[in-house]
Amino acid sequence: MRVGVLAVQGAFVEHIRVLKRLGVDVFEIRQLKDLDQRIDGLVLPGGESTTQSRLLRDLGLFLPLKKRIQEGLPVLATCAGTILLSEKIDDDPTTHFQTLPVTVKRNYYGRQTGSFQKKISFENQILDLIFIRAPLITATHPDVNVLIRLNEGVVAVEYRHQIALNFHPELSHQTYFHERFLKLIQARLSQDNSHHLNAH
Ligand code: GLN
Repeated sequence: MRVGVLAVQGAFVEHIRVLKRLGVDVFEIRQLKDLDQRIDGLVLPGGESTTQSRLLRDLGLFLPLKKRIQEGLPVLATCAGTILLSEKIDDDPTTHFQTLPVTVKRNYYGRQTGSFQKKISFENQILDLIFIRAPLITATHPDVNVLIRLNEGVVAVEYRHQIALNFHPELSHQTYFHERFLKLIQARLSQDNSHHLNAH
């Protein structure tokens, strides 16, 4: 299994570290030719969504990545990555990949709110969520599976092959969401295999 981590800006190093610790073959996506290799999953890290989007367009990566995601490439997006996937940004005409039918509000907690942590219980465990100038998901299409909802709104969703989080699991010691992403990739790979076998 090979996972590409978008590495044009933001907190990509930490994702690479977590995935390597989980035994995954990881590579950085910095330019178009990095997409020539096999890719089974994509990580869109946190950072600054407008900068990332501009760099993606400048580097010619925007459309090829959008196409891969539309075709079903499993994605784990965190924070700015979630903004890139979202169909709509609240009070903002800017659009990016638009593959995830949700609306996000950027910098929901205020531009000055650096970071904060919140412990929540989720599927029989306590998760430590780390937010950094985080967005909030303010609306979701009925087909979107809401994983975590706080008082103010939604902060984790899954939709088909896309997992989008408003916090930074790569900065906590917990690997739950990375493992969930790897399971999604596994499921897709075995599905592809059975299609392949059925075709013969
Ligand atoms: N505030 C950033 C943005 O709007 C996201 C912050 C983050 O990725 N930690 O793009």
